[in-house]
Order: sequence, then structure tokens, then C-alpha cells
Amino acid sequence: MDRLSHALDEALLSDLECPVCREYMVPPINLCTNGHNICSKCRQKVQCCPTCRAEFSSIRNVALESIARRLKYPCANRQTGCLDLFSIEHIAEHQAVCAYGPIECPLNKVNVGCPWKGFKSDLKEHAKAAHPRYFSERSTFFSYMLQDEAALLFCFGEVFLSYKRIRDGRFYCVVQLIGPSSQASKYKCEFKLHVVDEIEEICKTFTVRSYLEDFETSFNSGKCLRLDALVVRHFVVQNVLNLTVTLSTVQRRASITQPKNSTGVLKPGKYM
Ligand SMILES: [Zn+2]
Ligand SMILES: [Zn+2]
Ligand SMILES: [Zn+2]
Ligand SMILES: [Zn+2]
Repeated sequence: MDRLSHALDEALLSDLECPVCREYMVPPINLCTNGHNICSKCRQKVQCCPTCRAEFSSIRNVALESIARRLKYPCANRQTGCLDLFSIEHIAEHQAVCAYGPIECPLNKVNVGCPWKGFKSDLKEHAKAAHPRYFSERSTFFSYMLQDEAALLFCFGEVFLSYKRIRDGRFYCVVQLIGPSSQASKYKCEFKLHVVDEIEEICKTFTVRSYLEDFETSFNSGKCLRLDALVVRHFVVQNVLNLTVTLSTVQRRASITQPKNSTGVLKPGKYM
């Protein structure tokens, strides 16, 4: 967005602030007989206009409602770091799952049963004190057991939840960011299964998923580690599994140049 339209949006948004609750008004926007606006929630609670004490009229501010429908609203968690903007149809849906609002302890997703609820910025302190077994500040972790396992990783200024699961002859491992998928796609994780002699290995890299997605969806997306348990058992030596998971940031190239190809069809090469 350019600077002028940004400034315009800010000005329009401030006109949309309800004089009572200070939240942005969404349609229906009611008017008093002198033309002052009030949001529909506050309209129910007060007898007369809080600005001029006049009566309310049954007329709605159609012009302002139509502007409201075209504007992008900032998330209510802007103060705690959410910089996303949403249309009025989508903002409530987003705020219900916004990672910058108060969140539950993410370990509840792996059935730890923790009653903690708070801001993401306080999660590190909580995890360190209450869940030292799951806590790590490294971007690489090792898994030595062929059983279900979870970890909370605090690195790159973010929080990640890793989860490994063996179910119905399949081995799954996923890393999710405690945040929206737009942020999660900035990170990738490499899963490496190896044996001591380093001759045989399986190495796969996927972008990090968002924790707003349930594990079933991550596992069925094809975008996380999913192997036949029989294959994984091959990497268990003397009851020790050798799985290394490494998180890193995605380096996107500024522009990707298309390889020249006269037919426009990809030729079979080393990637096929
Ligand atoms: Zn209000
Ligand atoms: Zn008034
Ligand atoms: Zn938000
Ligand atoms: Zn907890």
C-alpha cells in the first residue's frame, strides 16, 4: 500500500471508532438525530447519544457502512505484534485464532493437560518452568526413541512445536510454528534418519506448518515426514533411533529465472 492510501485508511479507521467502546464499528452503524455514530453493541446499552444526548434515529449511516465494507481492519492484537489486516467478514474469524492473542499452552495439543493461558511472549518462561522435559532453545534436536514424542523449540525469536508419532504402521514427524501459516512458511525443517556408518540415510525437507492446523491435517497434507514404520525401524540400531531435525530460515531468491526450453515442456532430468 502506498503512503497516501495508507494515511487515508488510517483516517477512515479513526472515523470508524465507536465513541463509547473505542472499537471499530462494523455495519449496522446507527445514528442519533444529530448525525453522530454509534456501534450496534453500544446502541443496545445506552438510552441516548453519548456525544450530544439527543435521541437515536432509526436511520443507519449507509455511507459509512459502505466504506467499512471496503476497508481493511487491523487485528485487535496489534499491540502484541499482529500486523495483519482483514476485511470485516474475516476479522472475527481471524481474531478467534490469532497467535498474538492469549493462547493455551501448546502442549495441550499433545495431551499434556496444562491449564496455562497467556501471551506467546510469556510462553518461554512458562515452558522452561513447567515443562523442562519438552523445552529446548536449539534449532536442531535429536530423537532417539521409536515412540511418540513432542518438544517446544524456542529459536529464531519464534516458538515451534515438534511432534513425532507412530500410528498404524506409519511414522510421522512435523514441526509447527506457534503462529499463522504466513509466518510458518518462512521456516523449513530437515528430517534426517541415518545409521552410524552414514552410508544409508533418508533426508527430507519441508516448510514448517502452522499450529493452527491440527496434526491430522498436517500428516495428511503430504508436507511433513511420513514414512512406513518398517523403513524407520531400519534406522533403529540397538534400540536407538537416529533422527535429527534441523530448523532453518527459508532464503527466498529475489527472482527466479525460468530455464529456456524451446517446447515449454520440462525435459526429464535429474529431478524426475
Ligand atoms: Zn461501541
Ligand atoms: Zn448525537
Ligand atoms: Zn491477529
Ligand atoms: Zn503448559
